[in-house]
Amino acid sequence: MHPPALGPRVLLRQLREVMAGPEVAQARLDRITKLIAANVVAEVCSIYVMRPGHELELFATKGLKQEAVHNTQLAINEGLVGTIAANSAMLNLSDAQNHPAFKFMPETGEEVFHSFLGVPILKNGKPIGVLVVQNETRRHYSSEEEEAVQTTAMVLAEIISSGELHDVANSTETDVAHLRSHFLTGEAVVPGIAIGHVVLHQPRVIIVNFVAADVDEEVRRLRAGVDTLRGQIDQLITSSDSPLGGDYNEVLETYRMFANDRGWVERIVDAVESGLTAEVAVERVQNENRARLAKSADPYLRERMTDLDDLANRLLRVLTGTAQTAAHEVLPDAAVLVARTMGPAELLDYDRSKIFGLVLEDAGSNSHVAIVARALDIPVIGELDGVVELVDTGDDIIIDGNSGEVHIRPNGEVVGAYAEKVRFYARKQARYAQLRDVEAVTRNGEKVNLNINAGLMADLPHLADSGAEGIGLFRTELQFMIARSFPRLDAQVELYKAVLNTAGDQPVVFRSLDIGSDKRLPYLSRAKEDNPALGWRGLRMSLSRPAFLKLQIRALLQAAAGKTLRVMFPFVANLSEFLEARQIVEHETRRLQHSDQPVPVDIRLGIMIEVPAIVWQLDDILVEVDFVSVGSNDLAQYMFASDRAESSLVRRYDLLSPVFLRVLQEIARKCKEHDVPVTLCGEMAGDPLEALALIGAGYRSISMAPASIGPVKAMVLSVDQAKLTKFIEPLIETPSQTIRTQLHAFARGNKIPV
Ligand code: PEP
Ligand code: MG
Repeated sequence: MHPPALGPRVLLRQLREVMAGPEVAQARLDRITKLIAANVVAEVCSIYVMRPGHELELFATKGLKQEAVHNTQLAINEGLVGTIAANSAMLNLSDAQNHPAFKFMPETGEEVFHSFLGVPILKNGKPIGVLVVQNETRRHYSSEEEEAVQTTAMVLAEIISSGELHDVANSTETDVAHLRSHFLTGEAVVPGIAIGHVVLHQPRVIIVNFVAADVDEEVRRLRAGVDTLRGQIDQLITSSDSPLGGDYNEVLETYRMFANDRGWVERIVDAVESGLTAEVAVERVQNENRARLAKSADPYLRERMTDLDDLANRLLRVLTGTAQTAAHEVLPDAAVLVARTMGPAELLDYDRSKIFGLVLEDAGSNSHVAIVARALDIPVIGELDGVVELVDTGDDIIIDGNSGEVHIRPNGEVVGAYAEKVRFYARKQARYAQLRDVEAVTRNGEKVNLNINAGLMADLPHLADSGAEGIGLFRTELQFMIARSFPRLDAQVELYKAVLNTAGDQPVVFRSLDIGSDKRLPYLSRAKEDNPALGWRGLRMSLSRPAFLKLQIRALLQAAAGKTLRVMFPFVANLSEFLEARQIVEHETRRLQHSDQPVPVDIRLGIMIEVPAIVWQLDDILVEVDFVSVGSNDLAQYMFASDRAESSLVRRYDLLSPVFLRVLQEIARKCKEHDVPVTLCGEMAGDPLEALALIGAGYRSISMAPASIGPVKAMVLSVDQAKLTKFIEPLIETPSQTIRTQLHAFARGNKIPV
């Protein structure tokens, strides 16, 4: 029989003394191995730390040969230590040498030790090391001993991740992964280059105390923190203050469920009662949750892990007094925001003048946060899994939204090369600026109308700066998405008036409120839908709640009094929806006239072509509408049945596929036949190569983010449209997946900048 472990509280007190001591990191690790060996009465205690290249290196040991320290290395999955790291799970073995993963390391002298207890050292759920104890005799370590070793692993996680071990070995490559330079490639979502400093959208929590000085007081602090957290979530759900769109309310309900889950809170309390501080206890329980949920075969449960992670992080921020997002913190100049995901309204919460770039783990180019960033001309890289873990606020970072490249903590040469690229980019922008007043006419004299997409006051100066001919799409929902409650009539009138005044004689097409699917209003409750993209969105939602549409139409009519008002309706699936909306406009106009209020001199009403079914009703629709605008983002999503916000699907269906271009061509042809003006205002209009295809498919009016006007105009000026049409028309009839390569070759051969 082995004497029992001294218990985690005693151990933690001892660890606290070690942490408070003056030693350098190596001496500290050595003392910890001695302490833990004594605590569980083991002959061996060893600490392995993850090194660059994912090698686990023996960093300190009591009981194995000292010459093995910094010389023994194991790959992830190699030996028992590598297996623990690979699975992020503990191994408690009475006969280690008979375990199939056992690997004999002669330099350590461990062949005499039979029993083995190893636990992963986890930081944010990722293995950064392994802590092992061993005994000569065959024994099974008790749950108290497991507890003591796990608790020590939590403390070690903080030491390792603090960067303290940087100088432990003499070798310069000893640095841990989060201190090194990294080069990653994600999806280029919004073009542009940013050289700046990382700002974590959700600031990382820094834990300075690991061991509770007074356990009862610590439990009280934890419980108070949980109460605050619950209050915050309740308030987010009920108040109009919720900062996100998307499925946010659903997520918040999940948070509320977890935050009120006694099991979760009591497990954290138990960990505090073992002597940990509240913060370390939260991390410890979260690590256990991650290990459990990661093993689950159920994708729904694995998804919930992200929610639980977010909740645990929220609690940590409450406990440490850290802000929930960096939006209202002091930002460095040239801030590059890094986040797992972000809603469009959250991005708008930041001071635009400070934000130079955005890096997201999860966001495709048609997601609404990307659209808002594009409108604000902020370069964006998406689909960069794991980037949040690799960076810290203040790190140097370079992002290239043209290629999708991200350099974290770049070295001097990379910085130099990019500084040159930025100068080159600026020269290019200056050349585009020179084109501002040049008319967009092709080499064979075809006029192409270039308009901007807008949605915020901040967009308005771009109308003049970019040299666009008008606003082809004014997304009115952005005002609704950033507001704390439904914008009142006068607030709507004020914005629409400002837009029309800025535009002067240039046409502005207002789109009526387009919410639903991934665009939600936090203050508008909605029934849960299994398929929101196919549910209550766009015009169909407005018609089901006509009071909102009526109010908006009233605001538009008042704002455009004495002028021309152009309004289009989104997501129209059949003619009757448009007719119903038109009746509302007519009714509201009559109402104003009856009360002797001024009305617009001309009202033009159109629809967006976004639902495939409408393409087969064009003959009936085009005799009713004054104009149409193709929403290629949604049209593509519904034609290919491919979620536009799902980054993993982004490259699966090309907008330059003959089948999609054939549909676009057919729309343009029908509109010409009916003499109805047509514009295309999806994101493809702003990509010079895709815009080239649109000209080839018959479009003479397109609308895009302001920053795209210059590059697209440069393309228009160098293309011979007759030659292009001749080239593209037969290609559109082919059965291939895409004509991208051929179109690129055409552009190159004809010196068309794309
Ligand atoms: C579209 O769908 O192409 C479009 C312009 O509308 P939104 O991107 O706002 O849905
Ligand atoms: Mg749309």
